[in-house]
Amino acid sequence: MLWDDFLNSVHHDWRGDGAAEDRLDDSDWLDAWMDKQQLVVDHRPTAKDITSLKRLRALLHRMAKSFVDNSRPAVEDIVMLNEIMADGAVIRTLSADDDGYRIKLSPIGKQWTNLEAEIAASFSRMLTDNEPSRIRICDNPNCLWVYYDDTRNRSKRYCDDKMCGNLMKVRRFRARKKAESSSNNTN
Ligand SMILES: [Zn+2]
Repeated sequence: MLWDDFLNSVHHDWRGDGAAEDRLDDSDWLDAWMDKQQLVVDHRPTAKDITSLKRLRALLHRMAKSFVDNSRPAVEDIVMLNEIMADGAVIRTLSADDDGYRIKLSPIGKQWTNLEAEIAASFSRMLTDNEPSRIRICDNPNCLWVYYDDTRNRSKRYCDDKMCGNLMKVRRFRARKKAESSSNNTN
């Protein structure tokens, strides 16, 4: 989904000390990402565009975090989200294929503010069509990947069980061994 992909544009060194790297500052990364998400703008981002994108990301992160904390986003944050979506005028086109009918939304403008509106709309759609209580932040404190838990029993604690899940298992094991050996030493 667009919203969580965007939120994870801050990359954390999940295997190491959690050092953060902001990929919005990396124009090659940004190009590849927009390509993947099929987002189109008509000019390179200015410093102001990037600052504005980061503000949107902080807003969405704050809102996502409120659901992770079993709370609800602040009213001011919803107002802010609506202001951003106000730039999201779209043209709807109906298309038909073997699977049925689909409405495709194409933004009218090609400004960065139009792109922000698309991202904000993706987050809003998730809140209305899915279950916000399934938003998660990876339990590895050095990872903090944001994701949507679509498991049946809502028990997904890590972005990836094979990666962060295993790493944390190893860390817990080591911490237990260390605690055992230090308590043995004091005996
Ligand atoms: Zn993780």
